Amino acid sequence: MTKISFESKKVIIFDLDGTIVNLTADWMSLRDVLVEKYREIYEEQCDFERISKCLDTIVEKKDEEILEIFFDIIRQYELENIKDTQLIEESIFFINNKELFGIKNKVKFAVLSLNTRSSIIRSLELANIRNKIDLIVGREDVRRWKPAPDGLIKIQKYYKVSKKEMIFFGDLENDLLTGKNAGIEAYLIDDLIKFVNKIKNKQKNN
Ligand SMILES: [Mg+2]
Repeated sequence: MTKISFESKKVIIFDLDGTIVNLTADWMSLRDVLVEKYREIYEEQCDFERISKCLDTIVEKKDEEILEIFFDIIRQYELENIKDTQLIEESIFFINNKELFGIKNKVKFAVLSLNTRSSIIRSLELANIRNKIDLIVGREDVRRWKPAPDGLIKIQKYYKVSKKEMIFFGDLENDLLTGKNAGIEAYLIDDLIKFVNKIKNKQKNN
């Protein structure tokens, strides 16, 4: 098991989907709609195998207004199924009980996600932890997405902390790569979940 230390950490950052909650949007039909929209606007094909990859090409074209159209479509799809969102109990327990993990009160929690801001906020409300998350960096807040370091760097600049004072948790290799690209410690959420369960069991046996 990977040893996670929160000593000297001032900002703890989480991905959203697969990390705090499991969203249940219909990603395949979203992809179809995005492909169609892209073809309609640019009269060329982008397969949206990875959503960020095609959004990258829109950013390159500096079509900010068109980017907004795509954000709107993604937002709508995410929100349509938001009520079926499943909570990841251990992550939520961690956020609600940080003192049990030796985390000081002044330590901030942030979310860095490829989901749109509205879906992030709704998900956090569903999990009843909206008030515990101090900063949200969503799809609309950067123009280079994970695994580019921009989101983490944005969070670093906001808090004016050093990279050593930050730690990032996500569910994908892409998240680990984001940490690596930013020079910020990153772990898979599974490692945190194991740590949470260990502490919970210890408590139970006391
Ligand atoms: Mg994720």
